[in-house]
Amino acid sequence: MTHLREGLERITPDRVKRLPRDHRGFPIPWFVHTAGGTPDFRVVGPDRIVRALKLNLCWICGETLVRHKTFVIGPMCAVNRVTSEPPSHRSCAVFAAQACPFLTQPRMRRNENDIPEDSVDAPGTHLPHNPGVVCVWIARDFDIVPVDSGVLFNIGEPIEPVRWYCQGKTATRREVVKAMEKGLPFLFKLAEADGTDAKHALLQQIVRVRPYLPVREQDVKEEPHEPRAEAQDRGARPLEA
Ligand SMILES: [Zn+2]
Repeated sequence: MTHLREGLERITPDRVKRLPRDHRGFPIPWFVHTAGGTPDFRVVGPDRIVRALKLNLCWICGETLVRHKTFVIGPMCAVNRVTSEPPSHRSCAVFAAQACPFLTQPRMRRNENDIPEDSVDAPGTHLPHNPGVVCVWIARDFDIVPVDSGVLFNIGEPIEPVRWYCQGKTATRREVVKAMEKGLPFLFKLAEADGTDAKHALLQQIVRVRPYLPVREQDVKEEPHEPRAEAQDRGARPLEA
């Protein structure tokens, strides 16, 4: 591939257009580690987290954040509200959710070979599969949580509707639920190891995320102007597609 997928150029924010590009024509996100002139999209540059936080910079384009703190996260991060990457501009996040090969192609996994010797795994728990589904989550703010290997970010309630994507396109509720059902057993396993309180907390987190899933397809047809309160109520039901 020598250029961005058809249509992506059109949605590329100006800030992202200003980024340098790799040999395929992909913009190189600001956080990416570059060694000897070659970007390694799997690895975060050594100073990036600290600079992003200190200078209030967008994780993707590196320019100053203004109002929105937007996170591109997988379904399990939407459940536990924890991510390992700082926020971005909304437009940069929407672009990344549609364009990033790792985020949008489930068959591409993090290649553990040839990672620079001094790189370390990002803090937090990382699931062994690529969910293929991501969401753009806009929060008013976030908390920084120091952990042994760095920092994590505790994201708050979304202040705008959560947008879900599957392989670069708007995701259906079924696709999101399927991705969640694939990841939840891992979270349950971790919670079980932590005891009963952790299991209850996880169940509460699952209930809490339901209102933010895409509406069911049949509901869109039947009730195109469904009041928000009813949508929230319906979201309190189990995770069905
Ligand atoms: Zn940006």
